[in-house]
Amino acid sequence: MSRRLLIDRATVFDSAAGVLRPHCRIVIEGERIAAVSDEPIQVDDVAQTFDAAGRVVLPGLIDAHVHVVASSHDLSGLALQPPSLVTAQSSSILRDMLMRGFTTVRDAAGADFGLQEAVARGLFEGPRLFIAGFPVSQTGGHADMRPKGVRQREFFCSCAGLGLIGAIADGVGEVRRAVREQVRNGANQIKIMAGGGIASPSDPLEGTQFSVEELRAACEEAEAANLYAMAHAYSPRAVTRAVQAGVRSIEHGNLIDEATARVMKAHGAYLVPTLATYAALADEGQRLGWSAAMLDKLAQVHAHGVESLRIAKAEGVPIVFGTDLLGHMHVRQPSEFTIRAAALSPVEILQGATIEAARLMRQEGQIGQLVPGAYADLLIVDGDPTRDVSMLAEPARGIRLILQGGRVCRDRLTAG
Ligand SMILES: [Zn+2]
Repeated sequence: MSRRLLIDRATVFDSAAGVLRPHCRIVIEGERIAAVSDEPIQVDDVAQTFDAAGRVVLPGLIDAHVHVVASSHDLSGLALQPPSLVTAQSSSILRDMLMRGFTTVRDAAGADFGLQEAVARGLFEGPRLFIAGFPVSQTGGHADMRPKGVRQREFFCSCAGLGLIGAIADGVGEVRRAVREQVRNGANQIKIMAGGGIASPSDPLEGTQFSVEELRAACEEAEAANLYAMAHAYSPRAVTRAVQAGVRSIEHGNLIDEATARVMKAHGAYLVPTLATYAALADEGQRLGWSAAMLDKLAQVHAHGVESLRIAKAEGVPIVFGTDLLGHMHVRQPSEFTIRAAALSPVEILQGATIEAARLMRQEGQIGQLVPGAYADLLIVDGDPTRDVSMLAEPARGIRLILQGGRVCRDRLTAG
């Protein structure tokens, strides 16, 4: 029989309904939840009991836009590091994310199947990892990191930055092949660059990337493998084209307007804003030596960040939690909770980091919810997160217990 754990006197956050359910017992068998009940059920042969003492139990958090290999903000520099060093540096990024309560993350390019397996086997402590492999980018697109003037396609080695540097593809045939390569290497989702970005010097934010045919080809190949595509895009034009081509989640999306949000809603697309990173870069961009053009792009998207949440919310577009931090700025991951509070209710923020993220990732019933059959990924927190999520912004103090797949990652339940 697998090891049985009991969480007693729990106030369970029902992420689907967005409400708290007091006086519950959660029974865990092995790595999964066996029962959640507010009836006084009898539980025998318990290996360990955790007394929540009425505290709120949340599903383990999900960050749907991270780069766990981004140990530096200098991505081109990272691409010149050996994969062994990149991997070694990723281990602490992963562990720190888990200690902030993120039991699952969706990697938006960079992490590969080796890193995923290292976590799955317990070699590295970290969130369950859903990988994209290399981001697929057109020549001169957001993930084409070659210095200007370089003509050689394979300028960086094929394992550069583990996979932060794009798979460059032009034309429908090349796009299909690049997507199929990611599928072959175990991608859980396909990342495509559908518009300009901040960290890339020569592509305007308002511009679009890939032809509609290329975008469609990428989505078709993803769907053919039972996967889906996530697209980096800021402007209304780039977002609309991507969604109409079949993209399931828009990453960032800061510049969307009402009409664009309506297209997203009509196509069942998700928005994954990553406001923590713009706040971090607004503080640090200048010191990091960014060019005036890059700082100008940053100012534009930073200014529209919270507004994009308001627009998406008003049109009923599901808003999922993401952060997109790089290098030493990873410590700001929890700041996303506080930034979102300007436009979203605490329950909406929590749902974005649990059930909505799970739906986006097609993992409903597995993660993001405290229901029988789901992974026993859960947090016990101080205070009432349905009123105020600030305990998640200060995880070292606000989170009392972290369980991932029934394994105790952190326990300060009895600490003062
Ligand atoms: Zn990103």
